[in-house]
Amino acid sequence: MTNTGTLSIVATPIGNLEDITLRALRTLKECDVIYAEDTRIISKLLARYQIKKPLQRLDAATEMQKADEIIARLEAGEHVAYVSDAGTPGISDPGARMVRAVREHSHILKNVGITIEAIPGPSALTTALSIAGLDTTGFTFLGFLPHKKGRQTALKKLASSDIPVVLYESPHRIIKLLDELEALRISSVTIARELTKIHEEVTSGTVGDVQAYFKAHPDHVRGEFVVIIEP
Ligand code: SAM
Repeated sequence: MTNTGTLSIVATPIGNLEDITLRALRTLKECDVIYAEDTRIISKLLARYQIKKPLQRLDAATEMQKADEIIARLEAGEHVAYVSDAGTPGISDPGARMVRAVREHSHILKNVGITIEAIPGPSALTTALSIAGLDTTGFTFLGFLPHKKGRQTALKKLASSDIPVVLYESPHRIIKLLDELEALRISSVTIARELTKIHEEVTSGTVGDVQAYFKAHPDHVRGEFVVIIEP
């Protein structure tokens, strides 16, 4: 097998820039090029750790086209790192289709020696679950619910779940989502907002209580949200 390049999929902070592993920093320092969902966002992290690297953009729209470029680099023996805007690439973020293309290209029977390695780190999903205080022996992650088609089906699915269901939601839609959960007679929710940031806040209670809280504190309907629906 010819020894060719390495693709590192690197998790980055979800807010607090200190939440990055030593291995992630070393990888970002050692690689030949960093592909990023948004080069401006990653530049802030790189500046904080005084890392200077050639940057290339790979977002949802360019993922497949850039996958071919990355494969060519890996075949030339380069070390390529990929980072999304925050957290773990591929989790409600671009990255998975590119990784799949590289994986297919370097299929075990094809004698191509490309290594794909994970550099694990934060994700809003696991961060929220870690402080929710719920039984998370099992849970379902649905990411962002569809806005239109398929939304009602997804809501019904989560309403009948007997294990916690974790969603990502934007501040513009959080009140609407709570109204929908109330209509589905969901009893309890936990909402984790702005995790790892100055305004980190976890609110939990009945859907009615949480709705009342956010209606009374409209200035808290801001930032990034993880919603955990309790069974
Ligand atoms: N790849 C990321 C991860 O591993 O968590 C998720 C990216 S997804 C595009 C962004 C969504 O994740 C936000 O809209 C929010 O629902 C959730 N999220 C990301 N950072 C968060 C934070 N600091 N606090 C709460 N939720 C967060």
